[in-house]
Amino acid sequence: MSSWRDTTCGALRAADAGTRVTLAGWADTRRDHGGLVFVDLRDHTGKVQLVLNPELAPDAAATAHEIRNEFVLQAEGEVVLRAADAVNPNLPTGEVEVQVERLEIVSRSTPLPFQLDEENVEENLRLRYRWLDMRSDRMQRNLRLNHTAISAIRRTMDERGFVDVWTPSMTRGTPEGARDFLVPVRLQPGKFFALAQSPQLFKQLCMVGGLDRYYQIATCWRDEDLRADRQFEFRQLDLEMAFVDREDVLDVLEACVVAAFEAAGREPPARPFPRLSFAEAMLRYGSDKPDLRFGLEIEDATELTRGSEFGVFASAPCVRYLAAPRAFSRAELARLEEVAKEWGAKGLAYLVGDESGEVRSPIAKFLSERELEAMKPAPGTTVLFAAGDEELVARVLGGLRAHLGRELELADPALDAFHWVVDFPLFERDENTGGWTFMHHPFTAAVPGDEGRIESDSAHVLGQHYDLIWNGWELGSGSIRIHDVATQQAVFRVMGLAEEEQQSKFGFLLEALAMGAPPHGGFAMGIDRFVALLAGEPDIRQVIAFPKVSSGSDPLTGAPTPYPDEALRDLGIRLAQPPAQP
Ligand code: ASP
Repeated sequence: MSSWRDTTCGALRAADAGTRVTLAGWADTRRDHGGLVFVDLRDHTGKVQLVLNPELAPDAAATAHEIRNEFVLQAEGEVVLRAADAVNPNLPTGEVEVQVERLEIVSRSTPLPFQLDEENVEENLRLRYRWLDMRSDRMQRNLRLNHTAISAIRRTMDERGFVDVWTPSMTRGTPEGARDFLVPVRLQPGKFFALAQSPQLFKQLCMVGGLDRYYQIATCWRDEDLRADRQFEFRQLDLEMAFVDREDVLDVLEACVVAAFEAAGREPPARPFPRLSFAEAMLRYGSDKPDLRFGLEIEDATELTRGSEFGVFASAPCVRYLAAPRAFSRAELARLEEVAKEWGAKGLAYLVGDESGEVRSPIAKFLSERELEAMKPAPGTTVLFAAGDEELVARVLGGLRAHLGRELELADPALDAFHWVVDFPLFERDENTGGWTFMHHPFTAAVPGDEGRIESDSAHVLGQHYDLIWNGWELGSGSIRIHDVATQQAVFRVMGLAEEEQQSKFGFLLEALAMGAPPHGGFAMGIDRFVALLAGEPDIRQVIAFPKVSSGSDPLTGAPTPYPDEALRDLGIRLAQPPAQP
């Protein structure tokens, strides 16, 4: 193998008894029994027990007394069978141990800030000493799973004729809906590159360039608040295909997901993944990324409550409800009301069905028999209402549904619910300006037949945009793109981009589209999100080797850091105020 070792710690079995081995690794634990010393030696493949007997190997045994956790050791000796009562059935190497003849301390360790098997170590501390944390079973498993999934994806892309093309990280701002990270340029003070929010336009240009099928495990940068499923920088399986329809793109993604599941030794989800239109997702689940591992669908009561004596219902354009499988207490209802308010509701009307069959509710007295009959909660359930315009009602009930899913543990953790959401509106209202903005990005094509209405009926044009959802997490998005200049310009106009701005920001794209652009479409799937879910982890930091924490800094290197004034001067930058001290 190498001069340091001729086998690995996790490899030894009963059949190896009698062989001489040289091993190298970390001291996982040391048990000093006065005479005999036992050391569990660990490497990336597992652990094996070393035995140091002062009578057989006095020098090695003396050295062993110095060993502390995480020292690096090299040991040479004979593999021997353990006595029957000393066999460890929990360890793959548990039938054997190595009778050490020569032991060398290769490298020592200062006292550890935490033990590798310690539970609930504070995350900042883990990240500060990530090199130690990485030696834990959890991080070893996660980082290797990351590799397994990416390898399977790469194999799938290769088999299907995709070409891996590197695109620039430093570019012009790309409109993916987030803030850009800026890179000043010493050679051109006062000007900035943006770090690519995605390779979107480059991959489209690869299609105009005749590559036919592009892919990349692309790093993307977005200046957004960090969350469980978001980091400043993250990786995407980024792909683009020429001469395809939506179904061709979805087929490739499904194949990648299945290949990664299989490579990870997991039962893959059945294909094709269900498709849900955006309108249906909002109507039934109040979300464009519903968790379909549980039902709890939204019911409509708008017609039923038209002439209701309960004024809130009678006057609302839309009244809908959820029937939650629990008779909530007053205190629980107060908490749910807070959740509903966070999503924009003014209050929360409810009907609680007590176990006795009684209905508890301040609004029941206003409801007619017909209304009560139709919406009466079964014993042990609660009907929770939202009333208002359709968008608000969806938002509130969607938020409550997700909350109840978590609180009441409605999702079967053994299920993997993959699905597509398709047929999104092409545009949505920009909350700040009140004008139209894109739902996905401005390069998304309208569904066939809707192209002519892009400018005349912007509110109702559907886009060929699709999202992939796994257990309520959005794994990624894609679309069939616009491949003609006139349509692209129409979309820009709806977004309020005058000709001049179109040319200054996207002139190169318009030119490319005018020089023989094939129909094309693609997708980007968040690799870190995908692997985190595959690993059963609650956030993507657990599958990223060196992530940042929510304050936006890296506890390991201490970045970001201030730079001296001279360095900034070279870049043409002067700070308006000194950086805040950490
Ligand atoms: N560029 C898009 C994104 O990063 C994906 C795509 O449309 O292919 O979300």
